[in-house]
Amino acid sequence: MSQAARSTPRHAAMSQFAVSNGELLVGGTPLCRLAARLGQTPFYAYDRQLLNRRVGELRAALPASLKLHYAMKANPMPALVCHMAGLVDGIDVASGGELKVALDAGADAREVSFAGPGKQRAELRQAVAAGILINIESFREVTELATISEQMGSTARVAVRVNPDFELKSSGMKMGGGAKQFGVDAEQVPELLAEIGRSGLAFEGFHLFAGSQNLKAEAIVEAQSKSFELACRLAQSAPSPVRFLNLGGGFGIPYFPGEQALDLAPIGANLAAIADQAARELPAAELVVELGRYLVGEAGIYVTRVVDRKLSRGHTFLVTDGGLHHHLSASGNFGQVIRKNYPVAIGNRMASSERETVSVVGPLCTPLDLLADRMELASAEAGDLVVIFQSGAYGFSASPQAFLGHPACLEVLV
Ligand SMILES: *Cc1c(COP(=O)(O)O)cnc(C)c1O
Repeated sequence: MSQAARSTPRHAAMSQFAVSNGELLVGGTPLCRLAARLGQTPFYAYDRQLLNRRVGELRAALPASLKLHYAMKANPMPALVCHMAGLVDGIDVASGGELKVALDAGADAREVSFAGPGKQRAELRQAVAAGILINIESFREVTELATISEQMGSTARVAVRVNPDFELKSSGMKMGGGAKQFGVDAEQVPELLAEIGRSGLAFEGFHLFAGSQNLKAEAIVEAQSKSFELACRLAQSAPSPVRFLNLGGGFGIPYFPGEQALDLAPIGANLAAIADQAARELPAAELVVELGRYLVGEAGIYVTRVVDRKLSRGHTFLVTDGGLHHHLSASGNFGQVIRKNYPVAIGNRMASSERETVSVVGPLCTPLDLLADRMELASAEAGDLVVIFQSGAYGFSASPQAFLGHPACLEVLV
């Protein structure tokens, strides 16, 4: 191998899905069989066994007393939320619509929490009626909730979402520290707590979420330790003991060449130390981490069929029946600064030794509709199935399906 070839970063191995007779299996079903059963491409497929396995790995790595919540905005498919509700200790919702899906899925209202800026009065009413925990993100929400509690004769359960005075380093998406629309700045929290006390709302604790898609364990460890210290400091101004402390998450998964899976061991060790400290300093508090992407991202694939194969001035394009309208993030248009390829394979030619460099594009009339840019894949023809891995989070629900009026995409839990 040449020096250049050796130093080219590669995608992490996508070994979570088994392969049999050269075909990818989802939940034990061969991919072509699954496509036939659904009666159409494109589709997203999520694997129950992989969801179970991921939660099992987390439970093994994290302290037993720690509660694991699923942040369902990562994947709100009702059947999947229902499956997750049976695996985790709680569901975090970000809208009144998600709240309905979580409760329909069988989540225990006592273990559902609601975060997000700009919660509307109707959503706050839904939340109080349901008896879930509301993560307060502004002074307005305190006033609204006091009125709603009085009108409904039911006291709102609240936690304070804190915009910390630090950032999550190396995070794909920063959601705390500096000026942010999320949470209430740490320095304003004592005043907010006093207001909550005066309003008679049921104060339960704090929520800190510093950022998303982080692959550096040491950065997550640092953010969780700082979050805990900050919560201990703010607890001194609280109207009642802290019963709930959500330390956030931000655990990432490898998407792009050169990225590697997150090392859970140091995170688990640090959370165990925090749990010990919490038992002394916040003895009534239940500790929670909330994860979206890490729980579901690797358990899902997007599958689209090759419709056409075109040669343009020496470069081969596989044109598929799906594209950015179903999978915005794989096209590179959902928060990426420099476009990089997701891990991609030809799902019915997993064992093929015949390979070529091609680009995979969708049917939309825009050059942004690019699913793989000059990747080496198994040689493929019209009818073959292109698979995009790491697609279980921020896929279907985070894509502009109506753009260009192509048929809708399906989702299946296998
Ligand atoms: C989006 C979000 C999450 C989930 O983030 P992931 O990166 O998918 O784990 C968790 N908590 C809050 C408050 C969020 O906004």
